[in-house]
Amino acid sequence: GSTLTIKELHVEIDGKEILKGVNLEVKGGEIHAIMGPNGTGKSTLSSAIMGHPKYEVTSGSIALDEQDVLEMEVDERARAGLFLAMQYPSEINGVTNADFLRSALNAKLGEGNEISLMKFIRTMDKQMDFLEMDQDMAQRYLNEGFSGGEKKRNEILQLMMLQPKIAILDEIDSGLDIDALKVVSKGINEMRGEEFGCLIITHYQRLLDYITPDFVHVMMQGRIVKSGGPELAQRLEAEGYDWIKQELGIED
Ligand code: ADP
Ligand code: MG
Ligand code: MG
Repeated sequence: GSTLTIKELHVEIDGKEILKGVNLEVKGGEIHAIMGPNGTGKSTLSSAIMGHPKYEVTSGSIALDEQDVLEMEVDERARAGLFLAMQYPSEINGVTNADFLRSALNAKLGEGNEISLMKFIRTMDKQMDFLEMDQDMAQRYLNEGFSGGEKKRNEILQLMMLQPKIAILDEIDSGLDIDALKVVSKGINEMRGEEFGCLIITHYQRLLDYITPDFVHVMMQGRIVKSGGPELAQRLEAEGYDWIKQELGIED
């Protein structure tokens, strides 16, 4: 498997420092969860990993195995095997879901290695069945009029089709009903394996009832302030974040 290594990462938005030294290592075969109160920089971390232009890395490093991720363009990051599910996926006009997926997959496979149309359709059909998605979702325009649950299922379809080395899933569970949550979890659990590492960013412990993470991290004020196993998520659910603030002497 591959390893995503983040060292002493500092990130600014519009000149304001949001991430103040994040250290994290995600390896193939591992599922990590990052939890934390609102506004502590969780989404900033995922945006910085994927190279969103608004987020300026002022110091520190992000590497995928031996490769310097910060030197790569956004599309190169995807081709190198990083995947980001966005908190608010945008609508792209005039591109069907199937077209989009096929070109994303072919871009990743590279020239000369493109998937045949037949094989693509067969694979997509199979994955859509698995995710209990309506077949007509394939021919709909990307994200146009998708419900919240459909968007999330679709992100998991993308994940399963693209088979990234490391995925960063930011609030993949927000606004999902229980059925959609189960399907999303089923997809992520299906991906589990030595060749797949995953960073799940979530507000709620609920998702972690279905996907047992190997590691749980708490982010506060732009840093990872505590790490542990699944029991840490359970304690946060039961007791909130105050005990950590007290432990660390953090003021609100
Ligand atoms: P979280 O995901 O943990 O809720 P975010 O990373 O979204 O936190 O936000 C961290 C801080 O950065 C917040 O204070 C937020 O207001 C600020 N912030 C996030 N995105 C932007 C942006 N695009 N422009 C300006 N400020 C932002
Ligand atoms: Mg937020
Ligand atoms: Mg967020």
